[in-house]
Amino acid sequence: MTEVLGALVGGERLTNGRTVEVLNPSTGAVLAVTTDCGPEEIDAAVRAATEAQRSWRLVAVAERSKLLRRVAQLIMAEQESLGVLESAQTGKPISQGRRDAELCARYFDFYASAIETFYASAFSLDARTEVVTRFEPHGVTAHIVPWNYPLQILGRSLASSLATGNCAVVKPAEEAPLTGLRLGEICLEAGFPLGSVNVVTGMGETAGAALTVHPGIGHISFTGSVEVGRIISHAAAERLVPVTMELGGKSPNVVFADADLDRATPVIVNSILQNAGQTCSAGARLIVHRDVHDELVSRIAEKFAAASVGPYQDDPTLGPLITANQRERVLRYVEIGRQEGTLVFGGNRLSGGKYGEGFFVEPTLIDGVDAQSRVFQEEIFGPFLVVASFDNDDEAVALANATRYGLVAGVWTSNISRAQRMVRDIVAGQVFVNAYGASGGVELPFGGFKESGYGREKGAEGLRGMVQVKTSIVVA
Ligand code: NAD
Repeated sequence: MTEVLGALVGGERLTNGRTVEVLNPSTGAVLAVTTDCGPEEIDAAVRAATEAQRSWRLVAVAERSKLLRRVAQLIMAEQESLGVLESAQTGKPISQGRRDAELCARYFDFYASAIETFYASAFSLDARTEVVTRFEPHGVTAHIVPWNYPLQILGRSLASSLATGNCAVVKPAEEAPLTGLRLGEICLEAGFPLGSVNVVTGMGETAGAALTVHPGIGHISFTGSVEVGRIISHAAAERLVPVTMELGGKSPNVVFADADLDRATPVIVNSILQNAGQTCSAGARLIVHRDVHDELVSRIAEKFAAASVGPYQDDPTLGPLITANQRERVLRYVEIGRQEGTLVFGGNRLSGGKYGEGFFVEPTLIDGVDAQSRVFQEEIFGPFLVVASFDNDDEAVALANATRYGLVAGVWTSNISRAQRMVRDIVAGQVFVNAYGASGGVELPFGGFKESGYGREKGAEGLRGMVQVKTSIVVA
């Protein structure tokens, strides 16, 4: 019988007789069995974090920084096994799993440095009055994490939380909780106090919901869908708890006639095939000037045809989707896309042979869609690119901004004035010019406009979300 992995609470592993199976998306087989935490385990985790935070908030910055760096070193010491675990539970190609482990370590290193220069302010209001602002932690922070980049996403909010004197309760996604559990252990092995990092596994509607409403939580970092983000925002509003909402996207690459297509093509392809398109910042819409439309679409179709699909250990261009449900959902969008546009490439389920019972689909390219179509508007979360064309800059901006999302955009042009106008006018949290890709830049503040969320993680901005400002006014 498979061992049941307990939740990590106060340094102990807790089980409760209720379990959740974690599948390997490359094979469909059971990879591990975790505990489905309920309100009792969540309560124990929040109490442990509250207790630990009483002294952690007083620990010197230099000591916090040292421990964060130690976590980064321990992650890198087991980069290979963490990378394999990340790929096994998500299906992402093994080179991406290794890279995600490295980026997780980068967050701990980055915030180890950033916290050392995270100064508030002091000034004299008048001859007798000194004003000092202090950054104070929220207390216990909750981290609700999706399955697509578990290590990277947890790394960014956990490292910034611990750096600023908070303690944490982490709820990884039920589909991919294994690296979150290991990261929790690594933090304790690095010397973080028992209870400072707790990991409660289980289903969103039960474990996640219980964590969200727990009165001991002072801040919630949520990364996931708009739908669940709304539920959590409502719960947080009841208790007036601050939240960071890192939600979905339907991000565009906008390609002008003066773009360097040699440079643009591979980046655009990677932006939608990376992690099989299951990336919040995936470049899911191609908005292209009519003069270069045919050329670019045929280049992309060629690259889609050349992309390898397979199990994570073969290090293909793209692995499987996360679940059978997600695969069926993507295939339903293929049918919708066939009606709303022209299928240029792909659209099929892949099974048998090396695909076995895994959750594989071909990359899919749908051309000639309009801004009202569902495949243009909705986040599909698969290797699924839709194409719309424009004739002038105003149309390009209108198309780029025509969804409810505003996470990332790419602009491809050799005209610097046009590039600047696009950066100004496109409504998104990050706008790349002649480049695309939010992952990798731990230094770059990241987060959404519109329904892609609010609050910022990553970079120095990430620290601000984890503190509240207290102003002391001392009159001589
Ligand atoms: P999801 O919203 O279904 O789940 C995210 C997390 O919330 C999981 O841990 C889940 O267990 C938990 N959850 C579910 N219901 C809950 C509830 N009622 N109360 C509390 N917690 C609950 O998202 P997903 O399918 O895991 O991830 C895909 C989504 O995440 C996509 O929309 C993607 O764009 C988004 N995403 C955003 C970012 C970003 O930084 N903006 C990054 C990655 C993914």
